[in-house]
Amino acid sequence: MCWPLRLINLGLSYGRLSINEVGTRRLQKPTAFHDAYIFDLDGTVYLGDRLLPTAGETITRLRAIGKRTVFLSNNPTRTRAEYAAKLTRLGLSTPASDVINSSFVMVDFLQKRIPAAKLFVVGEQSLCDELSHGGFTLTNEAMAVDAVIASFDRTFNYQKLQIAFDAINNGARFFATNADRYCPVPGGGQPDAAAMVAAIEACTNTIIEAIVGKPSHFMVEAILNLLDLPPEKCIMIGDRLETDVLMGLNAGMAGTLTLTGATNAEMLAQSDIVPMYVIQQLSDLIPI
Ligand SMILES: [Mg+2]
Repeated sequence: MCWPLRLINLGLSYGRLSINEVGTRRLQKPTAFHDAYIFDLDGTVYLGDRLLPTAGETITRLRAIGKRTVFLSNNPTRTRAEYAAKLTRLGLSTPASDVINSSFVMVDFLQKRIPAAKLFVVGEQSLCDELSHGGFTLTNEAMAVDAVIASFDRTFNYQKLQIAFDAINNGARFFATNADRYCPVPGGGQPDAAAMVAAIEACTNTIIEAIVGKPSHFMVEAILNLLDLPPEKCIMIGDRLETDVLMGLNAGMAGTLTLTGATNAEMLAQSDIVPMYVIQQLSDLIPI
């Protein structure tokens, strides 16, 4: 029998609680502090160039009482230093070492598996730079490609699709930074890496081998390596059930949904993914 996702999550996160008990928890805020707070960025801490309501004061307060705060993004269009600089500019002074994004995890993933590989990147300059700095050779010569790396790419075009098609048909491996369908921006969204992956899968009739961003265990490993804490001491807060919350729950963290971004109450009610906590804004993380 194939268990529904809801029950898998119950087993991991709630022990022997009944569905009704969990149902009441859907709207519950944390009642105690955690040692580490892991925040998604887009739709959780900020939207565009503005902090979301109560984000700044909440994170500042958590830091003031000695809690670790780290930041995650599946968006590989900026480096860790650029994310840190943005948070600092918005009033939350943050070192680059406290930011993990999917391009950082991709470099680590590839270095451990296919060091010195020749890569073709369906992605933007920031990802190309991080892969180059990680020791990889980037090439447009399809017959020389060891792996195609798909990502969020606002410069995607038919020529890139052709090279990816030729490389994979010639035996290249196929990985992606993240599986987000779109990236929320003020007033709407932008098509994200899922669209690039789908285009390449469709024409090559292949299935992507690994996606290293949220909710993968590769991202979890990077977080826990950074924090050096057991997962049960950590709370993962994000605005997407299928990435932020699912990853937190599956890792044994307190997977928490904030209703400030991509997910509204109706979407939550229809989902098989049951967060440990649901909050209206980040100030709900402070126990009363
Ligand atoms: Mg988000």
